[in-house]
Amino acid sequence: MRLILLGPPGAGKGTQAAFLTQHFGIPQISTGDMLRAAVKAGTPLGIEAKKVMDAGGLVSDEIIIGLVQDRLKQSDCANGYLFDGFPRTIPQADALKSAGVKLDYVVEIEVPEEDIIERMSGRRVHLPSGRSYHVRFNPPKVEGRDDVTGEELTQRDDDREDTVRNRLSVYREQTRPLVDYYSSWAQQNPADAPKYRKISGVGAVEEIKARLFEAVQ
Ligand code: ADP
Ligand code: ADP
Ligand code: ADP
Repeated sequence: MRLILLGPPGAGKGTQAAFLTQHFGIPQISTGDMLRAAVKAGTPLGIEAKKVMDAGGLVSDEIIIGLVQDRLKQSDCANGYLFDGFPRTIPQADALKSAGVKLDYVVEIEVPEEDIIERMSGRRVHLPSGRSYHVRFNPPKVEGRDDVTGEELTQRDDDREDTVRNRLSVYREQTRPLVDYYSSWAQQNPADAPKYRKISGVGAVEEIKARLFEAVQ
């Protein structure tokens, strides 16, 4: 199974990705998690990326495409993978297409902007695993602690409200066009294109999970 979860920041892609990757036994390829790991490790790429991420902008296509190309060469990707937060621009989607990657599904998760602001202001993450929680909507078992490791949760630097608004406008301008890119490809060339599915991301985590499994049957 090879698929993309597409949707605005805070739509619940990371939360839902965990269910699909467990079920299909495939790795989650989150370019955001990969970049945060580089920032934490203090690599040159991380230092460069941090400035852009803190401003809510996008890291260059060249860097992202290189990261993903290297990741796909690893052996755990042989039976499929789930992209979360990639592709985010038309050139990134084109690079994937030219690399000859055959995707099974693109699933768009739709959430209105008002809900997104609320979700991101309460988001808490376990950085090493990428697991995310919400102080009200999806609280951890112990306040401030990851359910699996018991380690500390943190708030992302880019989840401040002003940065979130900027990320949403970047989404509208640079990433939203992928909705048209994949849905029209699926319509015009169903034999070649990934199947396109759109689900509502509004409701409880469990409800969305059920919609998602239904969409990829
Ligand atoms: P969210 O989960 O809120 O959508 P991500 O964790 O996917 O955010 O990404 C965090 C930040 O990392 C983005 O705002 C952007 O700066 C950078 N980033 C992640 N993935 C990409 C990508 N595919 N292309 C460009 N920048 C990216
Ligand atoms: P298990 O069945 O052992 O819990 P799976 O890898 O089959 O693990 O599934 C991973 C998660 O996805 C589980 O929480 C499971 O309940 C859920 N799941 C699997 N199939 C479906 C489905 N068709 N609809 C909703 N949730 C599902
Ligand atoms: P993304 O990866 O798309 O940026 P996340 O999975 O990190 O999104 O979710 C963003 C925030 O919203 C997190 O705090 C998460 O716990 C919360 N969240 C996820 N799904 C839901 C939901 N169905 N309802 C309310 N909040 C949710």
